[in-house]
Formats: sequence, C-alpha cells, structure tokens
Amino acid sequence: MLMPPPDYDYPPVIPVIEHVLSWEEIQRRCNIVFGTQQLRRGCSLRWPDRCEIWLSQVGFVPKPVGINRDLRITEKVQAAVRRHEIAHCNGWPSDHPGAINKHVDGER
Ligand SMILES: [Zn+2]
Repeated sequence: MLMPPPDYDYPPVIPVIEHVLSWEEIQRRCNIVFGTQQLRRGCSLRWPDRCEIWLSQVGFVPKPVGINRDLRITEKVQAAVRRHEIAHCNGWPSDHPGAINKHVDGER
C-alpha cells in the first residue's frame, strides 16, 4: 500500500466525514467520484471546508479474475487506507508523490 510521506501524514486539519461501506458499494461510490473503473479499497474527496472519505468495511473481498494479490480488508489494512485517504484530505496530490510503499498485514 502507498503510504503518505511525513509532509501529509498527520491528523486532518479540516473535519473528515467517514463512510464505511461494503466492498461492492465502495467500488460503485468511488467510481462515481472519480469516473474511473478501478478496484479501490477507499477514496476521498476534498471540499474547501471538509473532506469525505470512503473506506471498505473489514472482511473478505472476492479475488477478482486477473488480480494476483490479496485484497482482504483487515483492521490494519482499513487503518492504513484511512491514513492514506486522510493524507489526501491534507493535500497529498492524487499521483502520490513521495509515497512510501508498505506491505500491510500480509498484503502482496
Ligand atoms: Zn491515493
């Protein structure tokens, strides 16, 4: 998972509205937000006065055809996704400059 560099890795300075939804619902909502078809464990949208984040609930995720990695959402994975999305709330650009690639909870 791409973790934020220290510049963006701190508690949010604007209110964060967090939505925890099923894996399927996350795909639907995040694809609407971004207009892309891509498997995601979460996404975020920053407004001038607040930030909204969407996180997949903890649990088993059916492995999609052609994806050779573990997409289980454990507590640790969800926490890492939250940290990632909050960094976007703090202004981390969407192309993830300075990202630190970390394997979280058996993730490959
Ligand atoms: Zn990101």
